Amino acid sequence: MNRKEHVMNAALLGIGLGYVLHPAGDTTTFYTIVEVGVPVILGALFPDVDTAFGKHRKTLHNLPVLALFYVFPMVFGNLQFVWIGILTHYALDMLGSKRGLALFYPYEKEFGAPFGVSVSSNYATMVTLAVTAFELVVAALFVNRQFLVHAGLTAVGIQ
Ligand SMILES: [Zn+2]
Repeated sequence: MNRKEHVMNAALLGIGLGYVLHPAGDTTTFYTIVEVGVPVILGALFPDVDTAFGKHRKTLHNLPVLALFYVFPMVFGNLQFVWIGILTHYALDMLGSKRGLALFYPYEKEFGAPFGVSVSSNYATMVTLAVTAFELVVAALFVNRQFLVHAGLTAVGIQ
């Protein structure tokens, strides 16, 4: 996808995550949107740096780079949430392009979804919004997993 779609996806994801983490819609929700949203937008911009440095859709579009940004906060205590931006960038590129990503770079083979739309397609915005909505559903399920497990167990009479 292009920069516009990546920023739109990351900004909406940041807002959505703010509400997933603090549904009240109060000051804490707004604070969380800024806290999570800004690093997610920065992370979403990062992989395409490989258009200038390295091979595009390979050098900075792979799982080792994602792992690096996931582990970074645990070691250095900063760059929290940037990995979410990197991850959503990959998701959007895999669905929003006919080309795949070299996920296991330096192994060069590119992996992509079989039903991707082309970057310049009129559907680019629609695909971006659909991917964002799907990601927020996954995030909400993950954040509320204990509640859901509890509700499920109660529903089947185990708890
Ligand atoms: Zn990209």
